[in-house]
Amino acid sequence: MLQDYLKRNITYVRISLTEKCNFSCEYCLPGGWDKKLKDTLSVNELDILLATLKELGVKKIRFSGGEPALFKDLTKVLEITNHKYKFESCGLTTNGFNLLAKAEEWYKAGLRNINVSIDSLDPKKFFEITKVDILDKIIAGIKHAIHLGFNIKINAVILQGINTQDMDDFISFANTHKVTIRFIELMQNNTCTVDYLNKRQLTAETIIEDLKAKGWTLDNSEDPKLKGPAQTFKHQDNLGKIGFITPYAQDFCSTCNRIRFSSLGEILLCLFGKKRIPLRHLLTLEKKEELKAEIETLLISKPKSHHLDENFVGACDNLSKIGG
Ligand code: SAM
Ligand code: SF4
Repeated sequence: MLQDYLKRNITYVRISLTEKCNFSCEYCLPGGWDKKLKDTLSVNELDILLATLKELGVKKIRFSGGEPALFKDLTKVLEITNHKYKFESCGLTTNGFNLLAKAEEWYKAGLRNINVSIDSLDPKKFFEITKVDILDKIIAGIKHAIHLGFNIKINAVILQGINTQDMDDFISFANTHKVTIRFIELMQNNTCTVDYLNKRQLTAETIIEDLKAKGWTLDNSEDPKLKGPAQTFKHQDNLGKIGFITPYAQDFCSTCNRIRFSSLGEILLCLFGKKRIPLRHLLTLEKKEELKAEIETLLISKPKSHHLDENFVGACDNLSKIGG
């Protein structure tokens, strides 16, 4: 089992498959993705990485990006994760642009958990945020994926003045589709600057207090081994759930069970760490044992916590570079 010096068990790894994205979310890639990007990891390199992580006792893998559904070998990688290495849990975080076309193929490849990012259910606002006009298609993809048996969660970044007045729409969507909607507090990075935060950031606290007043209560039913950092609420009259990811909260880091890999094979010990450490040179069959030892050694220096509250964002240009 992978453990850091604070005895936090590392059972969850997020892998970014590409930095490319076909959306231009205003807080993430306002100018679109960087067209000068280097080569991403190959399927073989990812296979070796996944084999190593399995041997190190990792239980949960999530693929993200950029937009992971733009990675041309995504289905093959899902097959390797689920059918070859049989991780306990495998998830995908996507903007949902091709969910309708691909859900069935991904289901056959063993994927069961998909988080779809939708910051507004109003098509005009959705376009304003993403610069893409396909909200209907994404929602059709969600309905199809639910019908196939996927566990779908919706991620929405809390954007003051854009979606904060639309909570009732999200709550009713959660009920209609029996899904969990998770609100993420906007995090600072080199793209999502203090100026942007000053305009759009709102802590989850206000929304949580509102929900509690309307009868929503904390839900503790998730398996603690696989549970993420979200606080989830339920309501007796709603078939869905509402969650919150609050990275600025005091105890967010104390239960951190995750590390990340970039699409170039760098390890990130913390989303807001100072360094991305290149490990691609060890992603060969001959060097697998060396890779294992290196990951174990590096974990010793996993930071105790991030320093977002002091405006320190580490090597995080934007979340599309390191898989959100
Ligand atoms: N393209 C995929 C998507 O949008 O779901 C996966 C990558 S995206 C970087 C992953 C998640 O990070 C999305 O839910 C997105 O809204 C969130 N995100 C991006 N920048 C953020 C920021 N500055 N603060 C909080 N969440 C952010
Ligand atoms: Fe692309 Fe996801 Fe970033 Fe939006 S949040 S620009 S969809 S990577």
